[in-house]
Amino acid sequence: MNANKSLWLHDYNIKSFEPLTSNMEADIVVIGAGLCGLLTAYMLKDTGQKIVIIDAGKIASGTSANNTAKITAQHGIMYKELFDKDESAARLYKKVCTDAIENYKKIITENNILCDYRECDALVYSIDEEYAKKIVDEYEIATQLGFDAYLTDTIEPNINVVNALGYKKQATFHPVKFMNEIVRLLEISGVKIYENTTAIDIEDDIVETEDGWEIRASHIVMATHFPFFKIKGLYSLKMQQERSYIVALSGINKKIENMYIDAYEYGYSFKQHGEYLLVCGQDHKTGEDEGEDRFKELEEYAKYLYPESQIACRWAAQDCMTLDNMPYIGKYSTLMPNCYVATGFKKWGITLSMVAANTIKDMIINRVNEESNLFSPSRFKIGSTKKLVEFATDSGVAFVKGHNNVFGISSELKLAKGDGVVMQHNNIKLAIYRGEDDKLTCVSAVCSHLGCVVKFNKSEKTWDCPCHGSRYDINGNVIEGPALEPLKKLF
Ligand SMILES: Cc1cc2nc3c(=O)[nH]c(=O)nc-3n(C[C@H](O)[C@H](O)[C@H](O)COP(=O)(O)OP(=O)(O)OC[C@H]3O[C@@H](n4cnc5c(N)ncnc54)[C@H](O)[C@@H]3O)c2cc1C
Repeated sequence: MNANKSLWLHDYNIKSFEPLTSNMEADIVVIGAGLCGLLTAYMLKDTGQKIVIIDAGKIASGTSANNTAKITAQHGIMYKELFDKDESAARLYKKVCTDAIENYKKIITENNILCDYRECDALVYSIDEEYAKKIVDEYEIATQLGFDAYLTDTIEPNINVVNALGYKKQATFHPVKFMNEIVRLLEISGVKIYENTTAIDIEDDIVETEDGWEIRASHIVMATHFPFFKIKGLYSLKMQQERSYIVALSGINKKIENMYIDAYEYGYSFKQHGEYLLVCGQDHKTGEDEGEDRFKELEEYAKYLYPESQIACRWAAQDCMTLDNMPYIGKYSTLMPNCYVATGFKKWGITLSMVAANTIKDMIINRVNEESNLFSPSRFKIGSTKKLVEFATDSGVAFVKGHNNVFGISSELKLAKGDGVVMQHNNIKLAIYRGEDDKLTCVSAVCSHLGCVVKFNKSEKTWDCPCHGSRYDINGNVIEGPALEPLKKLF
């Protein structure tokens, strides 16, 4: 097993697809082939429309292949807050997420998809009194909303908790095994798929690719995780990215049956998959990890709980967080009526990708659905305006700090092997990395997305942007967007 690769990617079985090499016409083009894009195409595949999917890299290998794979409507503790603001929104959110779980089951059963699907409970726990009180409040609302929920004061992982709230009839699966099959079914239905085909612009009904090809389509779905436009739609103001780390432990003495997450937003999450126990945590805003070795911290914690275990593999991923804790699903912007977006899944995008796929399908086939208002990307309610200022300020502070907090380059650079630093030389911001072989690599420190200054991520040896979460390898190549272009290589 590759120690630095997601457990799910070890079962990647999807054939490769050629890049697009000519102009095309279609009824629907889906940009991005993670769970969200693939499920959207799946939901639309029997409508008789010609569907094309393009992906900038390999399909089904982004965040959708790097998560904890819980299929659940229990998204931490959130229902009480939502219910207090807008009861009908809480009811609708619960309904669409519960329907999404059912939909997974239906698709998996009807197509005999072997993806380790199993039903179990999802529990949110508290190790302190403050959050224990929140859990009791959440339980009361959960039962009012119709969840089959219960309170308990013990959980399966080796942690002493004050209490925990369980939701019955949730599920888990192997996301890559699932996507393997979805891709096969899409191909059988005639959906055309192109890899290594990056969309760089959309003008009216035309998607333009990096290689200069154009796809003309009546409907364009942007399922790229973080939208790639810099300005259009203002998603750079409306979203931030948050990163989390996962280890898969083997050799634990007692397997767990159900799925767990700490009620505290920076707590841990646990789930069993076969012989492996996944422990996830060490969350932080992308680009703001203050030089800590997150994997080390996570591994120490996991070993403290399960001293008998071994680390089988480990990986990290990030997701988009929105202003009001609701995803953005629907029309990309009022200025782009034929373009749809699904993003801001706040680390619950397995369930919410299914929700998005259904919502967008309904919008494309002109079927009225209730949730399009709740998730509308152009909404600004449920407390969103204060957060908008916060996000914009965070981004602005990161921008200014980044540009001010760079130090003059010294004649003798004191930089440990495997470490990186941002420095300024003749008004140029440099991101310098010293390899384990002592070799220095230097790229521009200015993010190609909107010009923020990147920071070194010591855990993963990458350059991460604190403004919108773009990530680059030490040579400046884009690992994750929204940035499309690399950091300029200087030496
Ligand atoms: C650590 C972690 C744990 C998680 N655990 C869970 C969980 O247990 N349950 C749950 O519900 N959710 C979970 N999530 C969230 C969930 O995994 C994501 O929200 C979901 O997978 C996002 O799917 P996606 O299709 O939008 O993005 P992705 O899977 O990232 O797919 C986006 C695709 O778009 C492509 N793309 C990007 N830009 C372009 C472009 N310009 N042109 C063409 N293609 C492009 C990319 O190459 C990529 O393939 C977790 C997230 C994290 C970070």
